[in-house]
Amino acid sequence: MNLLNKKERERYMDEFKIEAYGKINLALDVVGRRNDGYHDLNTIMQQIDLKDIITIKSREKGIKIECNIPEVPLNSSNLVYNAWDKMKEKSGLDRGAHIIIEKNIPVASGLAGGSTNAAAVLKGLNKLWRLNLSNEELMDIGVSIGADVPFCIVGGTALAKGIGEKLETLSSFSNKFILLANPGMPVSTTHVYEKLNIDGIKKKPNMDMLVQAVENDDLYFLAKNMENVLEEVTIKEFKEIKTIKEDMIKYGAIGSLMSGSGPTVFGIFDNEKDLIRCKNKLEKKVDKVIITKTI
Ligand code: ATP
Repeated sequence: MNLLNKKERERYMDEFKIEAYGKINLALDVVGRRNDGYHDLNTIMQQIDLKDIITIKSREKGIKIECNIPEVPLNSSNLVYNAWDKMKEKSGLDRGAHIIIEKNIPVASGLAGGSTNAAAVLKGLNKLWRLNLSNEELMDIGVSIGADVPFCIVGGTALAKGIGEKLETLSSFSNKFILLANPGMPVSTTHVYEKLNIDGIKKKPNMDMLVQAVENDDLYFLAKNMENVLEEVTIKEFKEIKTIKEDMIKYGAIGSLMSGSGPTVFGIFDNEKDLIRCKNKLEKKVDKVIITKTI
């Protein structure tokens, strides 16, 4: 019999496993360019159940990062390094950390892989070092690491403004059938934003109506009216994104969109049979095809 409750047990633990979930953008608009190089966004962010597993262990000094995927950097350019560094600064503790990343989220794919790893490390170190920081405090630290980090801390479904840090929680939009298709080439988020001509955007999402659709759990309106203004930049360079979007619809998706700055395309389905049929078709053409769901 275990005599300690979860909180009490955690007090004696020197290792934590945290699930780091990815995200898709159900709609994305860019509304301004800021002097600091960032852009002001208006985007509906949705957590998905595709996840990396982050193990955080105590270590006396310094950081050791391990990952099962060779293209992930293991030095200070890994976002988990920044997360550790900022938590040391915030806590005033000069402690080390051993971080093991088991990666399932494709890298540089528009699914916030790095950001969600950083969010998991902020949460993990908060527990490991018994700091008792609130989610708001962790989100404040998070935004200095990356625009998607605050959302990755709270998860669920949210309307994000500012650079992504002003979050308004929306009604849950969970358990929707999602197919992800990743054509393999990494896309630099910075490059896509640099190339975007804000004044020349052709198709903008109707954000009020899309938010309403999420609030009403109206899968069809949402799926048929989703827009991401970054598509026109990324598709210009990678035509296969347009082809994947068309294939998703051809093989049964009720809507399809590029996530973030790409290149991952997601399709929304209203039944599992079409989802699986589409997966089988796309697998013959696309590098990675992954079944997931909204959470
Ligand atoms: P976003 O959707 O937030 O723009 P993304 O999914 O497009 O993110 P990431 O997977 O975060 O992109 O990778 C972007 C770059 O960040 C990669 O090229 C990689 O070198 C670097 N990187 C730093 N830390 C990580 C990490 N923990 N996991 C994956 N990539 C990381």
